[in-house]
Amino acid sequence: MPELPEVEALSAFLSERLTGRVIARVQPVAISALKTYDPPVTALEGRTVGPVTRHGKFLDIEVGGLHLVVHLARAGWLRWKDGLPAEPPRPSPRNPLALRVRLEGEAGDGFDLTEAGTKKGLAVYVVKDPAEVPGVARLGPDPLDPGFTFDDFAALMRGDRRRLKGVLRDQGVLAGVGNAYSDEVLHAARMSPYKLAAGLTEEETARLYEALRSTLRDAVERSRGLAAGELKAEKKLGLRVHGRTGRPCPVCGDTVREVSFADSSLQYCPTCQTGGKPLADRRLSRLLK
Ligand SMILES: [Zn+2]
Repeated sequence: MPELPEVEALSAFLSERLTGRVIARVQPVAISALKTYDPPVTALEGRTVGPVTRHGKFLDIEVGGLHLVVHLARAGWLRWKDGLPAEPPRPSPRNPLALRVRLEGEAGDGFDLTEAGTKKGLAVYVVKDPAEVPGVARLGPDPLDPGFTFDDFAALMRGDRRRLKGVLRDQGVLAGVGNAYSDEVLHAARMSPYKLAAGLTEEETARLYEALRSTLRDAVERSRGLAAGELKAEKKLGLRVHGRTGRPCPVCGDTVREVSFADSSLQYCPTCQTGGKPLADRRLSRLLK
């Protein structure tokens, strides 16, 4: 799933290509991806694209007073196309295409929103104000916002009795951090994902705040200027523990371990994060019985 750094890079990529252009056609293919119907997606046609921005993991394309807001979810992606076929796309179960946006002009360029797999999570909204999107309205502060201070972060952690892994990826607490970067931030801060937020000392809170900002900043820096098609590979290259179960930790060489849940998993380094002790994995202990 694209998280803050990838969506940030995607918004910069689109800004260069879309701002000032006029939308010729909007062609929905997977109706399930459309979460609003008034105004209809066709209301975007004939309007000029303004700024492209980001709210957490939501992409926000301003189009002549309206907003096309997109949440890519787990398997959604945006593909830029230089020459889109003139004929309308046909829905089919094998076709990952959910929505096509075609710009005015000879070239027939534009973009496709696609979604692979069966778990449909891609969400597209057309609204007058991005705050009308429930997921956007409930977002916590953006960790890379220059105004987001250590005191703001400390206040968020202080009252939260949950484990850090859950707190960091809660969009209502912090906007834009998901499963991958919460693993990376905890590894950089040398903290167990099971540590309770409210139990952090002042020194630990400072270490986590620094790790959060530097991990995201570095990832944004690496993705800057990359085309939409190159972002996924770049994200993977930059990860130290997430998705690297069984491979060596780049910091200490210990083996990266995993804890599995019903619909996700986390990765961590025992030496760097948990005093060398593996975390309990209910699925694994069941298998060993
Ligand atoms: Zn390590």
